[in-house]
Amino acid sequence: MSCIFCRIVTGDVKAELVAREPGATAFLDVSPLADGHVLVVPDDHVARLEDLGEEAAAALFRTVTRLAGPVRAAVGAAGSTIGVNNGEATGQTVPHVHVHIVPRWPGDGASSVHGIFTTGPRRPVAQVGEAIRERLAAR
Ligand code: AMP
Ligand code: ZN
Repeated sequence: MSCIFCRIVTGDVKAELVAREPGATAFLDVSPLADGHVLVVPDDHVARLEDLGEEAAAALFRTVTRLAGPVRAAVGAAGSTIGVNNGEATGQTVPHVHVHIVPRWPGDGASSVHGIFTTGPRRPVAQVGEAIRERLAAR
């Protein structure tokens, strides 16, 4: 098993664990973007969120939701940016789904998620909406 997050889930590799819940494990990021930067990972090894089963996804987000408040309070933060790099094209470096919880403070110099995107859309919103609805209906 070569996946570092699988090895943390099984306990083969040490991490600064903060929670182990049915279906999900949470630990501190080894290269934190801020104090209290936590990663929450599902037990299942899949790279992208949409490849998780319904139950695994529910367990993952149950843990994220449960942790958001305590993580923020533990480091005296005002909020948190919660995000997923979903696929290699987004800069995902570990191909095992993980949710970042990064505590935030007013004036901490980091941007909102809107700051990631600089180019803007190429297609009309209504056209994209229709395309997504079609894909959903075909499932
Ligand atoms: P991403 O770019 O979304 O794939 O993020 C992967 C994250 O995993 C990075 O923030 C790394 O610092 C973190 N990371 C990699 N290896 C470990 C590890 N052994 N323990 C804790 N965090 C890790
Ligand atoms: Zn894995």
